[in-house]
Amino acid sequence: MKPLPAPVLTANAPVADRLREYYLHYPFHALQKALALSPHEIIAELKASGLRGRGGAAYPLGRKWECVLQQPAPVRYIVANGEEGEPGTFKDRVLLERNPLAVIEAMIIAAYTVRARAGYIYLNHSYRQIEQTLQTLLAWLREDQRLGNNLLKRQFDFDIQVRRGPSRYLSGEETALFHALEGRRAEPSSRPPYPTEQGLWRKPTIINNIETLSCVALILEKGSKWFTTLGPVNSHGPKLFCITGDIKNPGVIEAAMDASLRDLIEWAGGAIGDFKGAMVSGPSGCLFLPDDLDKPLTVQNGCGNGTVVVFNDTRCAVDLARHVTDFFFTEHCGQCLPGRESMKQAKSLMDNLEHQPSLAPLQQRYGELHTLLLNSSKCGLCSSGTAMAPALMQAFPADFDRHMHGGCAVCGSAV
Ligand code: SF4
Repeated sequence: MKPLPAPVLTANAPVADRLREYYLHYPFHALQKALALSPHEIIAELKASGLRGRGGAAYPLGRKWECVLQQPAPVRYIVANGEEGEPGTFKDRVLLERNPLAVIEAMIIAAYTVRARAGYIYLNHSYRQIEQTLQTLLAWLREDQRLGNNLLKRQFDFDIQVRRGPSRYLSGEETALFHALEGRRAEPSSRPPYPTEQGLWRKPTIINNIETLSCVALILEKGSKWFTTLGPVNSHGPKLFCITGDIKNPGVIEAAMDASLRDLIEWAGGAIGDFKGAMVSGPSGCLFLPDDLDKPLTVQNGCGNGTVVVFNDTRCAVDLARHVTDFFFTEHCGQCLPGRESMKQAKSLMDNLEHQPSLAPLQQRYGELHTLLLNSSKCGLCSSGTAMAPALMQAFPADFDRHMHGGCAVCGSAV
């Protein structure tokens, strides 16, 4: 087994029960270094690191910040997205429990870079304890003039508020999140305009997820050169993987993106039973099969947000496809016609697949729905939610055939 690299993002133990000590000893090295640089120098350093967003879309972070800096609008916002509502995802919670000041520090650096005056940390509804921890830290930072007016005597004002979202997966989508912060229904809006141009309250907004911001603090502290020594080109830096499912020790593993799925499974104590496949980047991601076990989990190979749900050969692919379809059917907002109608049809196809004569027409219809959504829906949720089922049909046709011809002993379904 390959040795597991020493963690940098998750090196701390949880801080809630020693919060004052953690605060007093936090060095703010990244912020000190950033304040000695100009905004353009900070962006150049972030670009040189190659850091890409860790939320799934993998957009280059330096370019995003630069785009906000270039906007002529005088008001800009910084938003840290800690919603992570997708099944199997809980890495941002781990980061906020172990090193919340790295996220706050990165937000102050972002504010200094683009001259934003207000920031928000948006949390998953269930993160009540983390919200309290953050509120305490923010109060101490205000007392010490690390937040508020004339911050660090640098003649810029910046403060951060914490909000917990509604208990809903869709509210983590960037535009839906802005609506939630504005007190509106957490539903997506069309792009363009992009958040860098018109985000929160239609002002240019830097929105990054918690893991991405944690990497910003590391880059400013240790340098972009150090960051590029971890992981392959286009996939630099440390990465958190949430591994769950049929696995002996589910949890968060920190590694670089040259790690393979086999490495992750071994570090997590091994699979329970015989490995059949894994949903990488969660149920909206891509399917890894036994032949993919040694592929590195890079951005190009679809590592996405780092969620890995392993399943063994006692799982029926139809059952998995139904679970995924049900989840996205429940979570979609129904706001746009293509999304609303396609999700209804996708669910009906999966619910009634025992009445299909064969797999081919089902595959074709499901594929058509997915293409329609890619081309015409308002946001990416419904299209990404209809990608996994066709992949499962393609990979495990025998499971689907069983359901169509006589029933499946694994699921207990019969025609
Ligand atoms: S694609 Fe789906 S989730 Fe997105 S706006 Fe349309 S119905 Fe809502």
